[in-house]
Amino acid sequence: MNPIAQLDQAHVWHPFTQMRDWLRREPIVLLEGKGAVLLDIHGREYLDANSSIWTNLHGHNHPQLNAALRRQLSKVAHTSALGFANEPASQLAAALVQGSKPIPEARAALEGPGAALTKVFYSDNGSTAVEVALKLAYEFTRRTHGAKPKPRFLGIKGAYHGDTVGAVSLGHIDLFHRAYAGLIFKSDSVMAPYCYRCPFNRAAPERADARTYRRCNWECVVGVERQLAQAKKQKRPYAGFVFEPRIQGAAGMIAQPDGWLRQVTEAARAHGALLIADEVMTGFGRTGTGTSTLTAGAGEKANTVGKPSSDPAPLFACQHEQVRPDFMCLAKGLTGGYLPMAATLTTEHIFGAFLGDYSEFRSFFHGHSYTGNQLGAALGLASLALLNSSASGRARSRLETRMAKQLQQLWSIPSVGDVRQVGLVAGVELVRDWKSRAQFDLAEQAGIRVCDAMASRGVLTRAIGNVVVLMPPYCTSDYQLDRMVSALAESIVEVHGRGE
Ligand SMILES: *Cc1c(COP(=O)(O)O)cnc(C)c1O
Repeated sequence: MNPIAQLDQAHVWHPFTQMRDWLRREPIVLLEGKGAVLLDIHGREYLDANSSIWTNLHGHNHPQLNAALRRQLSKVAHTSALGFANEPASQLAAALVQGSKPIPEARAALEGPGAALTKVFYSDNGSTAVEVALKLAYEFTRRTHGAKPKPRFLGIKGAYHGDTVGAVSLGHIDLFHRAYAGLIFKSDSVMAPYCYRCPFNRAAPERADARTYRRCNWECVVGVERQLAQAKKQKRPYAGFVFEPRIQGAAGMIAQPDGWLRQVTEAARAHGALLIADEVMTGFGRTGTGTSTLTAGAGEKANTVGKPSSDPAPLFACQHEQVRPDFMCLAKGLTGGYLPMAATLTTEHIFGAFLGDYSEFRSFFHGHSYTGNQLGAALGLASLALLNSSASGRARSRLETRMAKQLQQLWSIPSVGDVRQVGLVAGVELVRDWKSRAQFDLAEQAGIRVCDAMASRGVLTRAIGNVVVLMPPYCTSDYQLDRMVSALAESIVEVHGRGE
């Protein structure tokens, strides 16, 4: 085993990893990257098919990002946001505010719920971005509605919002949460719009994304409305509704049918709940340029949410359905996948509740040593400049179409149950048999084994249970994309055969 791998195994404890399995074999040690390609210590090449756990946007070792980093590095790497402003963090805040505007740009009120996002609170990662939104929403509600009843939060089943205690409390993945039951506070959840396994979907399985052939009456939306009505009746309304817009990531790439987000957020808004959009995974163009590849479900009116072509390509998932959150949590792609940095955007309305005389101590009591880091902010600006270029928009749109086309080949494999694509994210759900939707037991590691087989074909990604994720960097070429999909198809057949 090479010496670096030995050091790793001697001392590094990996996240979300059964370390006994980890210690059984030599890990891949990644040394270099260029574009969508990663190189390991033995000189083997791999394609980064999950953008290094959903963080990378424009590829590794990008000349413009590298140049921006070097430019900033020649000035200063970090100064404190406690007491001091800095150039890139100020400029990035303005750029994020600009980029988060609704599309098409309707007149947004400056005050009240649904107003424009104008304030940016920096932190270090997705979990803290959510933690900040949670604390702000909690404290805002206490200040405006009084301390009783205690502010409560509503989320979606299967949701993942990060690993700090507050973010875990807002999440609803039982496997992760059981361990910390005694540490976390209770939050409520509503059913996820998981069309493929929805008990209300009366359609038999087809060889297509379940959102396109589902037969239902939007029971998932009715469920949300009922939950909200009940809370109101009990005089314990929700202070906030937390959601991953358009697609829930760690839940298993649960793609929402068009219109779901719009309907549930309108209901939550009418209830009086603050809308907390967790765009940690979906932000920065990940959910597509607006060319929806999805057709409406049977018996429904066609999707009317599409954007007119004169508008810029949406950067955020909320913009696809004209949802105006009170909080938008950003991290993963914020620096293009280079450095850990996060931002929580909010409105003047929320901000105002924290203003007062010094002696009132109404400040927001939260912050981190590296808040507003100059290197990270410089990268964020460079990444946004790339995203806003027409070349990037065209490349993303082309890649999205290519991906939709290539993924079609998976339907010929009987152990593929559902293929869900939203923009440049896809989840492929593996099943024992597509005709019955019979599931693999988690302990069978159906997804992990497919990812191992893909790695031996030079394609790296990570599964979520039985769902294999494809999330290519935006610079991925047609040829590289084709290789990612064919490695996935071959690996599924190798591991699971042609079905049982
Ligand atoms: C990854 C993720 C988080 C947590 O981000 P970290 O940077 O890993 O703390 C939160 N929400 C969503 C939707 C995520 O995908």
